[in-house]
Amino acid sequence: MSTTKTFSEARTALAQGATVQDLTATALGAAEANRNLNAFLELFPESAQAQAARVDERLKNGTAGPLAGVMIAIKDNICYQDHKVSAASRILEGYTSPYSATVVERLLAADAVIVGRTNCDEFAMGSSNENSAFGGVKNPADTSTVPGGSSGGSAAAVAAGIVHAALGSDTGGSIRQPASFTGTVGFKPTYGRISRYGLIAFASSFDQIGPFTHNVDDAAALFAIMAGPDAHDSTTSRKPVEPVTLQHPGKLRIGVYREGLEREGMDPEVVAHLQGHIERLRADGHTVEIIDVPLLDHQVPTYYILATAEASSNLARFDGIRYGHRSKSAQGVDETYRLSRTEGFGPEVKRRILLGTFVLSSGYYDAYYARAQKVRRIIRDRAMADLERFDLLFGPTCPTTAFAPGSITDPVAMYLQDIFTVQANLTGMPAISLPTGMHSNGRPFGVQLTARPFDEARLFAAAKHLF
Ligand code: GLN
Repeated sequence: MSTTKTFSEARTALAQGATVQDLTATALGAAEANRNLNAFLELFPESAQAQAARVDERLKNGTAGPLAGVMIAIKDNICYQDHKVSAASRILEGYTSPYSATVVERLLAADAVIVGRTNCDEFAMGSSNENSAFGGVKNPADTSTVPGGSSGGSAAAVAAGIVHAALGSDTGGSIRQPASFTGTVGFKPTYGRISRYGLIAFASSFDQIGPFTHNVDDAAALFAIMAGPDAHDSTTSRKPVEPVTLQHPGKLRIGVYREGLEREGMDPEVVAHLQGHIERLRADGHTVEIIDVPLLDHQVPTYYILATAEASSNLARFDGIRYGHRSKSAQGVDETYRLSRTEGFGPEVKRRILLGTFVLSSGYYDAYYARAQKVRRIIRDRAMADLERFDLLFGPTCPTTAFAPGSITDPVAMYLQDIFTVQANLTGMPAISLPTGMHSNGRPFGVQLTARPFDEARLFAAAKHLF
């Protein structure tokens, strides 16, 4: 059977007589055929086919849910009951989750099939997938480049056409940047809109789960199923989820950040592409104004102070006692902690734990952590003020297209990958990367749209009709 990419193609295949079990076999086969990408850390053939058989039964009875026929991969930091989950880290190697994330439960209840867990940067820390303990991932759009990160395996699994959708997590850009690099749609919801229960925490005040898909309709469909309050995550909002109708949003006021067009290091072809969109949007009757990003040069440092602080606290639980790897050579409790963590964590995770512990230490807390919290507040207040004047913000997802593995070795240069994505995480705003660009180097790139908190309905509508 030929592969289907979108949910509607999957539904057409079902209408033409394919079964969900056929679609599942196709996805599992495609994953095997694309092993060279290293996108999956593990496939779940048994549970996938068992779920497919149940969904086929419900299709016969006319009781199937909205995601019948949809094949989904999940990032290896999202828990699925009785399945392994490792956050691409040696410290969790061999660990099996005793429960499912709320998003997994909601997808299964809607009759999706979960085909496997995808490779990523260890504990979601990175922008290239090179920090995985289980090897890098190849970008299907150009296999000589990285797929971005940290959700690189999820992006690659969708870009290669293995699955219809994949879940990632976005703490500073880890869905939108790999979406840009692989030519897929990547969406990060408003903070608190989708439950984080069952997501292995990196930086809890930033982390959100979101989808990679082949089009905006499918991202919106998954959003509608996953969004909403959850008693297991007290940071989810009780605000009712607005229906996503995908109706044309009418004439909009759009703010474009000047730095996305003028900043040093911007690829000229990315800039020309953005300018083309701006002219077209104006010609279509939208109001487009160029504005300054609030404190752009402070955004990445603020993010890295706060995210590492939160990570150092969140990762304290991996102590060799409760989960995963325990050092064989350790004697006594202290040495068990020390050696298990020394052996289990990779270099980038250690760097972040050290940084985070430093900025929280009593002598430096006020100078770094407390100050970064204040800067975060100012960035948020200014971005919210911009969003009083504009319905949406528009700009690049990343300054450049995908790069070759090993080509960025300086951690700070790698952190600057996040220059245009961290604002949405610092402020909690929803944002989406759309694959509208194709560079003369043959690699795709995305543009980013950002909306007011909880204004996903407008974000998706604009993404569908304006781009
Ligand atoms: N690249 C960023 C980091 O390394 C973002 C990671 C993420 O969003 N999970 O922290």
